[in-house]
Amino acid sequence: MYNLLLLLKITNYFMQTDFSLKDYNSFHFNVKTRYFETLKDPAYLKNAIINREFDTDNLFILGGGSNVFFRDNFHGLVLHPVGKEIEVIEENEAYIVLEVSAGYDWDEFVAWTVEKGYCGLENLSLIPGQVGAAPIQNIGAYGVEVKDYITVVKGIYLDTGADFEIPAEACRFDYRDSIFKHELRGKVFISHMQLRLNKQPDFNISYGQLEEQLKGTEITQQAIRDAVIEIREQKLPDPDVIGNAGSFFKNPIVQKAQYDFLKSQYPEIKAYPAGNDMMKISAAWMIDNARWKAYRVGDAGVHPKQALVLVNYGMAKPRDIMSLAEQIRKDILFKFGIELEMEVRLV
Ligand SMILES: Cc1cc2nc3c(=O)[nH]c(=O)nc-3n(C[C@H](O)[C@H](O)[C@H](O)COP(=O)(O)OP(=O)(O)OC[C@H]3O[C@@H](n4cnc5c(N)ncnc54)[C@H](O)[C@@H]3O)c2cc1C
Repeated sequence: MYNLLLLLKITNYFMQTDFSLKDYNSFHFNVKTRYFETLKDPAYLKNAIINREFDTDNLFILGGGSNVFFRDNFHGLVLHPVGKEIEVIEENEAYIVLEVSAGYDWDEFVAWTVEKGYCGLENLSLIPGQVGAAPIQNIGAYGVEVKDYITVVKGIYLDTGADFEIPAEACRFDYRDSIFKHELRGKVFISHMQLRLNKQPDFNISYGQLEEQLKGTEITQQAIRDAVIEIREQKLPDPDVIGNAGSFFKNPIVQKAQYDFLKSQYPEIKAYPAGNDMMKISAAWMIDNARWKAYRVGDAGVHPKQALVLVNYGMAKPRDIMSLAEQIRKDILFKFGIELEMEVRLV
């Protein structure tokens, strides 16, 4: 059970109790947390961990809430990083290394880099969430992943309060994956991330849809950002209008032999090489092919334009969306022999 005084010590602010997370999760589920506080200075958290016993099983770090799925009320403390700081760590004619704090809104940070002419992140425009969450699932879009630019992830171990600095090579970044989803899952607070961005144009417009959108346009960093925003706005539902957490499932990666078999059954199947004789199958294609796209039961549904996005049209409860997700998973397993894995983090 949480000690209120201890929690006040951590945060040094007035703490909210029985706080609704409706505006802090992009599905807009009206779930409550026992305690809620914003965290501006990681030192408060560090000191609290070092000085007192801390039940980290009941602590949840919540960024923008755009990749979480609260199944129910949360009976512990939700800490929400706030604060926006950018520090220049190193700079020369070719590149700049920046250290950014966890609470910075991701897209606001991307917009800032574009304004300054620091290249690399423009393809990742308009991804919801905070900077601190970006390394966790190695956010990616339109041919770019944040791992391409991260140099170091910094933070605090929640069990000891010790600082850590993990170089990118040790973060085991992969497709929507990293060490923070495995050994370090729920065990760290990421306070900062360092990124190395190019000062010379270094654009990646090889992704089909982006290349198409930019046809006839002068390729600048701002033009790429604008094109990405335009594509995303056409394709993806705005969570402020229709609750969703982006891709609900990951694209499964299977052996080439399994893909070849599926291709013989479904010649139009969409897939991409994933290295080492593996293929990444489009989960959206399978869900669409299985006729789930635009399916709706009550206020839970599959978005009509993007089959990978499960949506809350208003009053859906977590169990309604979860039940729909389970039906889809079972159907895909039955039809294609593939088990879909959730991309969202279940809480
Ligand atoms: C409409 C929409 C479109 C999306 N498009 C994309 C896309 O194109 N590509 C993509 O990769 N993702 C996409 N996403 C998913 C999501 O935006 C990203 O995963 C994002 O990084 C989540 O950030 P967040 O701050 O909202 O994290 P949250 O949802 O708050 O948290 C996600 C996980 O990270 C942990 N966490 C958050 N901050 C910290 C921290 N500082 N320290 C330790 N742990 C932390 C949480 O505990 C949780 O486990 C999309 C989501 C939506 C709703």
